[in-house]
Amino acid sequence: MDEEISIPVPLPCDSDGFLRRECPSCEGQFKWLITDDDSSAIPPDQYFCPLCGVAADTNSWFTREQLEFMQSYAAPQIERMIQEAVGDAFGRIDAIEFKTARSLEIDSDTVDALVEPDDMLIAEPPCHPSEPVKVPEERMGVLFCLLCGGLYEV
Ligand SMILES: [Zn+2]
Ligand SMILES: [Zn+2]
Repeated sequence: MDEEISIPVPLPCDSDGFLRRECPSCEGQFKWLITDDDSSAIPPDQYFCPLCGVAADTNSWFTREQLEFMQSYAAPQIERMIQEAVGDAFGRIDAIEFKTARSLEIDSDTVDALVEPDDMLIAEPPCHPSEPVKVPEERMGVLFCLLCGGLYEV
């Protein structure tokens, strides 16, 4: 069974709609804007770190907290899927009691939701003003565009 199971994990944005990210190269943190209405745009296959300018795959930017959260959030759901799959296969055997109903109650409530503070300052690259980022105040100065890696000053 090499079916890919994807579990949507709700990662919180700050009140401006920015999601915290961590660069896999310099481990610096910044935020990028989450937009829902860009279905017409072709998603890029990589982003440039605004802090060090090194590009990485679009899925490489999770912070450690987000990865830990995703693991603890997804684990009970994966367990539930397995139990349900096993339950489907053996559900007719009366001697075996599957506690799928019980496990349904194990949900995101058991995991403390991440909280995203409203920190950092917005920087808007002149080459791609629709892709603003937020960077820590002390990192303001020369930044790289998320989309094209172009240098700009803020
Ligand atoms: Zn970086
Ligand atoms: Zn750009």
